[in-house]
Amino acid sequence: MTKKFLHSIPIFSLMGKRILILGAGFGGLAAATELRKNLSLDHRVIIVDRKKSFMMGLVKLWVLEGSRNLQESLTPLDGLNAKRIEYLNDEVTKIEIAQSRVQARDHGWIEYDYLIVALGAELAPDRIAGFVGRGYNLYDAQQVPKLRDRLLQLERGKVAIAIMGMPYKCPPAPYEASLIIDSMLSRQGTRNNIEIDIYAPAPIAMPVAGPQVSANVVEIISQRGISFHSSHKLKSVTDDTLEFENGSKADYDVLVGIPPHRVPEVVRSAGLIAAEGNSNWVAIDRNTMKTRFKNVFAVGDVTEIKVGAMALPKAGIFAEEQAKVAARQIIDEISGRPAVAAFAGQGYCFMEMGNGRAGYLEADFFNPAGPAVRLEAPSEQNFQKKQDFERIRVKEWLL
Ligand SMILES: Cc1cc2nc3c(=O)[nH]c(=O)nc-3n(C[C@H](O)[C@H](O)[C@H](O)COP(=O)(O)OP(=O)(O)OC[C@H]3O[C@@H](n4cnc5c(N)ncnc54)[C@H](O)[C@@H]3O)c2cc1C
Repeated sequence: MTKKFLHSIPIFSLMGKRILILGAGFGGLAAATELRKNLSLDHRVIIVDRKKSFMMGLVKLWVLEGSRNLQESLTPLDGLNAKRIEYLNDEVTKIEIAQSRVQARDHGWIEYDYLIVALGAELAPDRIAGFVGRGYNLYDAQQVPKLRDRLLQLERGKVAIAIMGMPYKCPPAPYEASLIIDSMLSRQGTRNNIEIDIYAPAPIAMPVAGPQVSANVVEIISQRGISFHSSHKLKSVTDDTLEFENGSKADYDVLVGIPPHRVPEVVRSAGLIAAEGNSNWVAIDRNTMKTRFKNVFAVGDVTEIKVGAMALPKAGIFAEEQAKVAARQIIDEISGRPAVAAFAGQGYCFMEMGNGRAGYLEADFFNPAGPAVRLEAPSEQNFQKKQDFERIRVKEWLL
C-alpha cells in the first residue's frame, strides 16, 4: 500500500518538496488548505489522521442541545483527495526527527521535507478515580447523545458539571454546556426540580480570560440558577458522591465531566517537549510556530505558548491561525521569499447561552499591556455567526 502510494507520483514531483501534516483536525486542515492553495502540484501535501471524518468540537454542544445529529455532522476526510491533498487514514506511531520521517501503522515510514505536528490534545478521563463508567465525558462525541437522553429522562435531582483538569480545550465550553442544559430542562418542564452545579479547579471561572470576564460568566450562569463552585478539583467519584481535593463532598445524579488533557504519547516520545522548562506541551516560537528542530512546526492544542503566568487557551481559532502562519512560513521558504507571516495571538469565539443566543468573546493575548479579553452581550446574530463559522470552514477545507 505504502510503496504503491509513494511511487504512483509523476517523476517531476520528485523535484518538489514533501510537506507532511500530522492530524486532520482544526489546525491540520487549515494548514493543508493554505499550503495547497499556494504551492504548485510539484509539491506534495500529505495529511495523516486516524479518523475518517471531521467534526468541529463546538458541534458537540449542538448535539447536546438537540439541534444537530451526530452522524449528519461528520464530514468525510477523503474529500481532501479531490483538493489534491493526499489524505492517509492511518495511526501515527513514531516521529523520528533526526531521520526526517514518520511511521504510520499501515503506510510504514513516510519521509518529509517539512513537518507540521497538529495532533491536538488527548483526553484522559481515567486519571480521575471512578469517573469512567459513572460520568459522561462532554468532550467525547459518542457520549454526548447518551448524555442528552439521560438528561431528558431525569425528573428531579442534581446535575454536576466538573472541570477535571487544566488546561482544557475551549475554556467557555463547560459554562456553555450548563446554559444549554438549563434551557433543555426548562423546555422539558423539569428544571425547577433539578439543580445544576459547576465545579472548577481554579479560583475563578476562566483564569485565562481574567477576573472581569470570569465574574461576568459567573453572573450570567447565576442568573439562570446555576451554582459555581471554585477551587473544587475533582479527586474521585462513587455511585452517588463526588469527592474533591479540598476535602469537600457533593452528591449528584448525573455527572458531566471535562476530562484532564494530555499531550499524545507519540509526540512526547519524539522529544518534541523540551527537557528544560516545566511544560508538558510542545514549545514553539510564538510568532513562527517553529519548534527547536529545523523544518518542524507544531500548531494548536498540542502546543503551549506562555503569556505571563498563563498559557494561550486551547481553541480552534488559535489552531487555525497558527496553522496558516506555519503554512505561510513554509510557502515563503520554498518560494525563496523572506518569511514574514507571524501569529498575532488574537482570536475570538461565540459563547453559547442556549435558546439560540450567543455572546461574543474577543481576545488579544499578545497585547503589550497584558492579555485583553472582553465579552459582548448575547444575541441571536452571534449565534448565527457561530453557525456560519462552522459551515464556512467545513466547506473550504473538505467540500
Ligand atoms: C465542546 C467543545 C467546544 C469547542 N468550541 C470551540 C469554539 O467555539 N471555538 C474554538 O475556537 N474552539 C472550540 N473548541 C476547541 C477546538 O475544538 C480545539 O481547540 C481544536 O480542535 C484544536 O485543533 P487541533 O488541530 O490542535 O487539534 P484537533 O482538532 O483535536 O485535531 C487533532 C487530530 O489529530 C488526530 N490524531 C491524534 N493522534 C493521532 C495519531 N497518533 N495518529 C493519527 N491521528 C491522530 C485526531 O484524530 C484529530 O483529528 C471546542 C472544543 C470542544 C470539545
